[in-house]
Amino acid sequence: MSAPRNPSEVARETLLQLAQRRVTPTPDNYRKLYHEIAGTRTDDDVPSEGFLRRLSRRLPRDAAERQRTARELDQALNAGNLKAADDALGRYLDGLKAVDPPAWNELIASLLRSWEGRQQGWTIARKRESLERVLNASEPSALYNRLQGLLRGWNQAPVEAMPAPERANSASNPAWAETAVSAATDTESIKLAGFPPANGNHELIEGLRKLLLSALRDVVPSFLGGHPELADESKRLADEIAHTLEPRQLERIGSHIRRLAHRLEMITADDAEVRAGLLELLRLLLRNIDELVLDDNWLAGQIEMLRELVDAPLNPRTLDDAGRRLKDLIYKQSQLKHNLVEAQRHLRTMLAGFVDQLARFSETTGTYHDRISSCAQRISEANDIGAIGLVLDEVMRETRCVQDEAQRSRNELIATRKQAQASEERIAKLQEELDEASRMMRHDQLTGTLNRRGLEEMFETESARAQRRGTTLALALLDIDNFKKLNDTFGHKVGDEALIHLAHVVRQHLRPQDVLARYGGEEFVILLPETDKADAYTALTRLQRELTREFFMADNQKIVITFSAGVTPLGFDEPLQSALERADGAMYQAKQAGRNRVVIAELR
Ligand code: GH3
Ligand code: MG
Ligand code: MG
Repeated sequence: MSAPRNPSEVARETLLQLAQRRVTPTPDNYRKLYHEIAGTRTDDDVPSEGFLRRLSRRLPRDAAERQRTARELDQALNAGNLKAADDALGRYLDGLKAVDPPAWNELIASLLRSWEGRQQGWTIARKRESLERVLNASEPSALYNRLQGLLRGWNQAPVEAMPAPERANSASNPAWAETAVSAATDTESIKLAGFPPANGNHELIEGLRKLLLSALRDVVPSFLGGHPELADESKRLADEIAHTLEPRQLERIGSHIRRLAHRLEMITADDAEVRAGLLELLRLLLRNIDELVLDDNWLAGQIEMLRELVDAPLNPRTLDDAGRRLKDLIYKQSQLKHNLVEAQRHLRTMLAGFVDQLARFSETTGTYHDRISSCAQRISEANDIGAIGLVLDEVMRETRCVQDEAQRSRNELIATRKQAQASEERIAKLQEELDEASRMMRHDQLTGTLNRRGLEEMFETESARAQRRGTTLALALLDIDNFKKLNDTFGHKVGDEALIHLAHVVRQHLRPQDVLARYGGEEFVILLPETDKADAYTALTRLQRELTREFFMADNQKIVITFSAGVTPLGFDEPLQSALERADGAMYQAKQAGRNRVVIAELR
């Protein structure tokens, strides 16, 4: 039988069912059965308020629709309209079918992002505490709701300013970040596929990506001059990173980077081994040269210094220094070799002459011996005195001949010996001149500091290094105060000693990388690498203090040497002369202002 459609049919069916089910035909029973057959509800089906309120409290509100219908339920309950509440409950239950199950994956991802985000007032400790509280909820939907609420709480707080790195296009970016920006500008439009922008995390990830790009594209290859294939691989990986942030691709690139890092490690180890091997070879070489030049103090001294340099930790400055000393050594050796060749040539000529002389002499004496033997023979056979007389004349003649020859040989030998002595003296003199020339080349003879030429060379090296590294280089010019008076009072020799004393004290209180040169008379120049004008000023005033402590003795009198100085920073690509002029101007001002002070000359 088909279900009754109109009310009279329903009424008839209801009466029929009342009879069939033997239900007492009360109005209530009739109403209930009627609604059952019609498929409608009675007001009596509305649950009680208490039940509805309990239910409402436990309803998940994890989606907008559920929140809305649950709110309608609450409002209806508050208004005392149980029917409306029941309807709202119905709508809520209907909605359950349409709403997807809670998206836990998204919730956890958001939670992780917000955990790492920097929200004002939300320290990690505070976040942990609130999370632990929320985790007390054992029912999944309640947990979901609470976690959502927690997230909202975190994310509603303003984003905390990042200490570093700053925004990539900020004017105050350091050079490395600028490089990173320029390296990444072509990829600016790429979005972070796996990382939706959230509370500054996007910027943080972008910043890190640019740094990684810059490291792979610019930094790593610059260390791989000897390994172009690895440098290319590093750049290729940078390009790949520039064009994707898709998680799977990134995973693949990550494993490539790890492989590259491993190969870099191997290369670095190889390079270190090669460097150590080369140094060992150099040490060996120096030891051998040292044994060869035992009789030359200057060379032995230079080699000792070289060995000390090589044994100390290497840096560009000590290598420079070693290079310069080696050049001096090579120069000196080539000169010595020249002298030695000349001396050998002399000796060879002398020896050849001497051998010739001996040969001639022995030839002469051989002939003499033969002739005398023949004369003796003839004398023994002679019968008259006249014949003997003739033979004796011959003996006399031969003997004189030999005597002459011997005299000649003796004279020649004396002359040769004199020549040998002369060339020996000449070689010794040359050697002295050479020592002098080597010393004079870069160093001041009196104080042992660099001279002008040495200063010029060091200036070239230091200013090029400062430009290459982008560091500051300062120059100071100092002039001893009232030096003429000291000379006039104690004599020129004491003046010389004062200069030596000053150079010694200054050298002792400078850093190893600072360069001290005697510029002339009682003027000295100091180059201070990686030093700005303020630090240069401090360094010079410290030297003044040290000079008052370490006074100088002349004629049993304590003499405090003072100086006036001008310091100035070097301009970009500025020649030595122009910086010296500026420092000189400042030094003059220091003198004018009463001496024993330091004046800074600003860059013009
Ligand atoms: P100020 O404080 O203005 O610099 O006065 P000063 O006397 O130091 O300057 P001045 O330029 O008038 O004199 C410098 C003197 O330094 C003159 C010169 O005889 C002396 N002098 C230069 N070179 C040497 C040197 O090698 N040895 C010695 N003993 N004296 C030197
Ligand atoms: Mg002077
Ligand atoms: Mg002076």
